[in-house]
Amino acid sequence: MKLESEAKETLQDKNTPHKPAVIMGAFLLAFGLMAYLFHGYTEEYAIGEAEKLVRDALLTHKAIHKYVNTESRPELYRLKSEGDLYEGYFSPKTMSFTYTARGIKSFLNEERKKVGLPEVYFKLATTNPRNEINQADTFESNLLKRMNAGEFSEYKEITRNKDGEKSLYFSMATKPITKGCLKCHGDPADAPKEMVDQYPKASGYYEKEGDIRALISIRIPLEPYLEEGKAVWNALTAVTFVVLAIIYTLIYFFMKRSEQQNRVIVQQNSALELASMTDYLTGAYNRMGFIKFAEHDFDAARRYRKPFSLIMFDLDFFKQVNDESGHAVGDLVLQELSEIVLERIRGSDTFGRYGGEEFMIAVQEQGIQGATSLAEELRAAVQHKVFTNGHKVTLSLGVAELTSVVSLKELIDNADKALYEAKRLGRNRVAVYSPQAG
Ligand code: GH3
Ligand code: MG
Ligand code: MG
Repeated sequence: MKLESEAKETLQDKNTPHKPAVIMGAFLLAFGLMAYLFHGYTEEYAIGEAEKLVRDALLTHKAIHKYVNTESRPELYRLKSEGDLYEGYFSPKTMSFTYTARGIKSFLNEERKKVGLPEVYFKLATTNPRNEINQADTFESNLLKRMNAGEFSEYKEITRNKDGEKSLYFSMATKPITKGCLKCHGDPADAPKEMVDQYPKASGYYEKEGDIRALISIRIPLEPYLEEGKAVWNALTAVTFVVLAIIYTLIYFFMKRSEQQNRVIVQQNSALELASMTDYLTGAYNRMGFIKFAEHDFDAARRYRKPFSLIMFDLDFFKQVNDESGHAVGDLVLQELSEIVLERIRGSDTFGRYGGEEFMIAVQEQGIQGATSLAEELRAAVQHKVFTNGHKVTLSLGVAELTSVVSLKELIDNADKALYEAKRLGRNRVAVYSPQAG
């Protein structure tokens, strides 16, 4: 007889595999992705902040230019025209926009330093400077050349100093030379006398109308902004980690719980299914259970060409037991009979109650000989047993073998015919199905 656990195993669905590693992988992937995105944002943030400062510096620069051109110089020209200032007067402090701008930037950097802000590199660079301090270096000269060739009017790049610290470098062309500019930057003969005297090197002259004379170079260190960005990155990463960890834990416990529930359901289903296939009174399979397992055994035996037999048996004159001692005693006799059978069959055999006091055994790995001797053994054991209330009962048994039959149904029919023959021949005996007898 098949064990319950074995039957359960056949019925039981495979459990859903638990996947903490998969969730952990997804968690780490999500976290890594978020950290990567935040990191990219840090650099973007730093550049954005530095660009704001560049824009601000350029606007300040424009404002200084405008002030010198529209306020400071016209005022001095007026004084000259009214004779309050002599014609040759020139002071870069009042008339040179470059000088003024440089002075203001230097004051600005002093103030920035005081409040702990990094200095901003600022230069109005030209290849033809009046003051050497404005001399363009090789890099700036090259940029100026390209700006004059019309390649671009603005240039931007992220640079690193020798310590690896990043800066945003920005360069912009100044307005092309106009007629007004040529007053000081054209022929020195037309320029204010004092200016010519102050800059005896004779540079900064002979510019041409339409040329870009200078570019504005600004370099802003990115480090302070990168630091700020990093702090934001750390905070965002920590929050993301905590949130993801909470989500992961919730999913993990939810999965674990539902898995446990599933396991209980599967076990209950198996128990229910087994119960639905078991005969309550005798513990043998009922007709449905017997057919299910015997069908399986029958198919396997046919496929692998293994011996397989069926024993069908019925209690002789069982009605009399009920009539004499009542139905309850009859039930006990049926239970005792089942115990006798279960003690003698193999684990691989299938024992079922086919109906009323009629039973069947599917005998694996046994041909007619083996099955007949098992039937005989059962018959003798029952004959010699004293049942409840001192009852003596006997069995009639029919045996059929899997030879040329094509279905379990056909094999059952053959065993039934043999059982009928055993009854006909006088009961308490074993009859073997023979195809000739039919
Ligand atoms: P035979 O040798 O021809 O088989 O005679 P029999 O009396 O055994 O045959 P019959 O088919 O006339 O009677 C079978 C009896 O089995 C009738 C029924 O009361 C009894 N029986 C069937 N199932 C149960 C059961 O679950 N409990 C009890 N106590 N009796 C049962
Ligand atoms: Mg009977
Ligand atoms: Mg019967």
